[in-house]
Amino acid sequence: MGGPTGDRMIRVDMTNQTTSIEPYPEDWKFLGGRTLSARILLSECDPTCDPLGADNILVIAPGLLAGTSAPTSGRISVGGKSPLTGGIKEANAGGDPGQDLMKLGYRCIIVKGQPADPDRRYALDITGDGVTIIPADEHKGKWNYKLIEDLAKTYPPKASFISIGPAGEMKLSGASVACTDHDKDRRPARHAGRGGLGAVMGSKGIKYMSVDATKRPARKAENSKEFSAMSKKYTKEYQEGPGQEPFPKWGTSALVTEANSIYTFPYKNRVEGRSPDVETLDGMRIVESFEERGGGMHNCMTGCIVKCSNVVNDKDGNYKTSALEFETLTLLGSNCGIASWDDVADLDRLCDDIGLDTIETGAAVAIDMDSGAKNLLREIAEGTEIGKAIGNGAVATGRRQKHKRVGTVKGQALPAWDPRPLKAAGVTYCTSAMGADHTAGLVVDPGQSIDDIAQASQEAQILNTAIDSSGFCQFLGTSIQEVSEFYSEFFGEKVAREQIADIAWQCMQEEWEFNRRAGFGPEDDEMPATMKEDGIGPEKTVWDIPQEVVNKAYERFEPREELFTQKPS
Ligand code: SF4
Repeated sequence: MGGPTGDRMIRVDMTNQTTSIEPYPEDWKFLGGRTLSARILLSECDPTCDPLGADNILVIAPGLLAGTSAPTSGRISVGGKSPLTGGIKEANAGGDPGQDLMKLGYRCIIVKGQPADPDRRYALDITGDGVTIIPADEHKGKWNYKLIEDLAKTYPPKASFISIGPAGEMKLSGASVACTDHDKDRRPARHAGRGGLGAVMGSKGIKYMSVDATKRPARKAENSKEFSAMSKKYTKEYQEGPGQEPFPKWGTSALVTEANSIYTFPYKNRVEGRSPDVETLDGMRIVESFEERGGGMHNCMTGCIVKCSNVVNDKDGNYKTSALEFETLTLLGSNCGIASWDDVADLDRLCDDIGLDTIETGAAVAIDMDSGAKNLLREIAEGTEIGKAIGNGAVATGRRQKHKRVGTVKGQALPAWDPRPLKAAGVTYCTSAMGADHTAGLVVDPGQSIDDIAQASQEAQILNTAIDSSGFCQFLGTSIQEVSEFYSEFFGEKVAREQIADIAWQCMQEEWEFNRRAGFGPEDDEMPATMKEDGIGPEKTVWDIPQEVVNKAYERFEPREELFTQKPS
């Protein structure tokens, strides 16, 4: 298998315990990752279904260029109706399963149905010969790291895994889907975190999927020589080019100081936008620790040239977690009033191990910090009442505590990037079908004119949709223009940049339509009252954007040149 022709897709019915391999539809040729997930969900999933019921669909879809020699292009999307928001959701991750699925020629996995016995656990074994459902009851309740350690003993050394921890098995709304990374230990450290899609996988009774593409070559482009030359040129220019810091050297954790300076490093459940602990949470402290403890920067997927992922060791030099990212240092650190990056690293490991989104969990823990963060996370795995509330996210925790300061849009917790100073990011949180999700279209431009924010948000949303469909990691910083050049050589035909933007816009419309059919209305596009009333910074900045300005992001603006040449924030 290989190359853009002859691709296939996997269908799994967990009710009837059947699988099939089908030819990949020609008219889905230019869809991948997020755009493919949205198309499948709108055409095959009832938007009014119970997200944890048999009628929801779990989509696993690598980006379009995954499995090829294009650099940093193996991201994998997980999609479904979200148990957290009740709307459509796509979250994506690095690691190797996306690369491996596409090397086998599988463009997506579509999982429907539900086993009759909710206590049973199953796994999907995927190879070039097809897919098999196997019993996995022996792995029930295992945390992600123990699970992968055990699987590594029986599967080929190059197989990759997609798994859930106890949070997914308990069908908690903050549950993530883990993908194993590129290291030889295959750590389950790369998570499709947002929206509770781990609970959807858990509701299908699937504990893990294995993907074995051992000895499979990279996917071959139609214009193979040109594609390969383009990949090499792009890599060389990236590695020799200016301005690649901070990610390759220090990872996203190096954004802490800058974010703090512009009041978007939320402190203690967002009472302020700056933390007094910025020095001890700064990612540079992690980099400094490498000398004494070991660890360092690595790439989480085969073929990544950015290597933004920090491997964090404990004081004895043993592996603790990777990657400890900016969002986690913010939501599980500053926002919970925790001052030490080392303590946040412990919480990050717990979240990855239990299978939880660090953003949603951090927002929920911040509402309920009296018991101490580590104990609260362990309570999630133990299934206590308070643990279940936190595992179900910020809204469930706020409701339980009768707490008023709950920063969510469409039921999903706000990420670190605060909408009060970052108005265009706020427009994205309000208008994206995903709710408050910075990966849907982040704009880091405090002080932007109100005349520009809707268009800036829309352009960021189109760009991020296009990138999240291509397989490129957002941290590589690829523009739509560059994606168009890669696609054209891969397919052996001109794929115009305007066409890519149009496909992304079409995807956003399909996502909005899914939510409309699911019962969403204008009231779901509102920023929460706490963002409008509780000011931060010296000027007590609040969210003050009229809804008619927000709504402009729903009407397509005339594309500007920047749409095609800008890189994701
Ligand atoms: S840039 Fe970072 S997150 Fe993206 S694939 Fe590379 S190591 Fe993973």
